[in-house]
Amino acid sequence: MAEFDLIERIRRRAGAREDVVLGIGDDAALLRPPADQLLAVSTDVLNEGVHFRASDSPFDIGWKALAVNLSDLAAMGAQPAWALLTLALPEADEAWLDRFIDGFMTLATGHGVALVGGDTTRGALSIGVTVHGFVPAERALRRAGARVGDDLWVTGTLGDAAAGLADASRPDLLARLYRPTPRVAAGLALRGLAHACIDVSDGLFADLGHLLRASGVGASVQLAALPCSDALARMCSGPDRWLYQCAGGDDYELCFSAPVQHRARIEAALAKTATPATLIGQVEAESGLRSVAPDGRHWRRARPGYQHFEGDQP
Ligand code: ADP
Ligand code: MG
Repeated sequence: MAEFDLIERIRRRAGAREDVVLGIGDDAALLRPPADQLLAVSTDVLNEGVHFRASDSPFDIGWKALAVNLSDLAAMGAQPAWALLTLALPEADEAWLDRFIDGFMTLATGHGVALVGGDTTRGALSIGVTVHGFVPAERALRRAGARVGDDLWVTGTLGDAAAGLADASRPDLLARLYRPTPRVAAGLALRGLAHACIDVSDGLFADLGHLLRASGVGASVQLAALPCSDALARMCSGPDRWLYQCAGGDDYELCFSAPVQHRARIEAALAKTATPATLIGQVEAESGLRSVAPDGRHWRRARPGYQHFEGDQP
């Protein structure tokens, strides 16, 4: 099967939107962004051997490749619209591609996203996705903006994906690893309520650390308050669990700061989107991130989060 046939297979399933003037098939897509909003653009690549295994389900790989990108738009409070897909494939495997597109487009359709272009080449299996969304200029959720005294919140639960990676015998945990749910509706609901927001992809403490540095503040987090799924609670407790919740990766939840007086509004707004959210700490003037154990002592964790190239020689 030739490159053109693969692209045609993708084109037939790409989805449509009124603001797509010209989609897959020309030298460039022609798109009509709304006149009164900013375009939010983000890209993430998933490589075989680093982010997934060749033996993983192609449906899951397709789903996750888009999910991690939609999570970035969610963290900006942006409404997703368009996606580009850059595929490097070792061989032209139609069955694999069809299942991959099944996963990608199941999530895309659920969020009204149209696939408007991309590139298809031969090479080691690698999937690059670029997403575009819209957000009114003054309402984008940035990493900078957290203020001293703000509440710190996190959506959903933390640590499941990392625990699933460590103990592959638990399908409930592995579901979080392979099919993360981007918190798009929650990001939209937090416009005008959150001061700062980030998605948790590399572990809570690593990503919250980015938010705090961007905002020029610090924070205390109550370890006992960290939201935990029933599945993770059955598997471990105490420091073992905290490690997954604080330093695990692949949660794709939102961590955000908001003024204390917005508590009730935030709970109501997120309840409307059926997104659980938990208060986990407070923003403070002293820089750095302090994790407070149930006995009141500060807990020193082993490592802050996942980093590519960590441990490589300079
Ligand atoms: P060109 O050589 O002009 O870049 P291509 O043959 O690479 O054109 O692509 C032809 C059309 O197919 C373009 O509209 C491109 O965006 C689209 N396309 C190619 N690969 C993909 C893909 N993996 N997913 C979606 N669209 C794709
Ligand atoms: Mg091309």
